[in-house]
Amino acid sequence: MNTLFFSLILLFQTLLFADTNGIYDIRGSSKLLDTNISQFLNKWRTDTITPVQNGTYKNIIVNGDTTKKIIALSFDDAPDENNTHKILDILKKHDVKASFFMIGSTMNDENTTAVKRCSDEGHLVLNHSFNHARFTNLNETEIVAQLELTSTRIQTLTGNYPLLFRPPYGSINSQVVDTINASGSTIILWSLDSLDWTLKDPYAVANNVISNVRNGDIILMHRNPTSVASLEMVIETLHSIGYTFTTVDKMLGLTAYKQ
Ligand SMILES: [Zn+2]
Repeated sequence: MNTLFFSLILLFQTLLFADTNGIYDIRGSSKLLDTNISQFLNKWRTDTITPVQNGTYKNIIVNGDTTKKIIALSFDDAPDENNTHKILDILKKHDVKASFFMIGSTMNDENTTAVKRCSDEGHLVLNHSFNHARFTNLNETEIVAQLELTSTRIQTLTGNYPLLFRPPYGSINSQVVDTINASGSTIILWSLDSLDWTLKDPYAVANNVISNVRNGDIILMHRNPTSVASLEMVIETLHSIGYTFTTVDKMLGLTAYKQ
């Protein structure tokens, strides 16, 4: 009897934990989402997360501690001199620190103030490629060049050489993962997609985030008008239900910058 009992417990634990290791599935949905995009997204999420959850892809971050009401907001595709500043204004007003994944080639003379301001105000300035290429189309030399050019440019502007990288489109395969790991960087994906890149309605974006949020989520947003318009709703509501915000390095105990 005892043996059966413990066998059942073991089986239960195996089913519950073994396949995910505390790594979430990626969430984010809306009734307004186009059917084709929805199907494409579901396939991408399964194809990307399954090898992370079962350990085939190493050293990839999807979410933080699932037992704490702590979440990380992340913003892709900065800098610009418009929406990036609006996001920074809202974060400042609510005393929230966030993680920005920036594109190297867009850091030109006109918008370097947004990069510096991000860093000066305590947010992370991280690597999101040099020209937003799909990394699964690149060879190893091209991948390394994208990483180094962007991190070097960020270091010139902020003093910090980032070691955390988010692949454009979340597009990865074994070669991309191995090359980035060998270069000393860590891939940061996300566990909750705000869908701000496809939904134009800020209320739908906020509702998606608020209704799908879990402990330890890394939330994907962008420097676009929809995210700007939804951000205050997201922050105020999540604060009101007990969540606190942090940056991805603190959430995961990672080193964001080369020492
Ligand atoms: Zn992007």
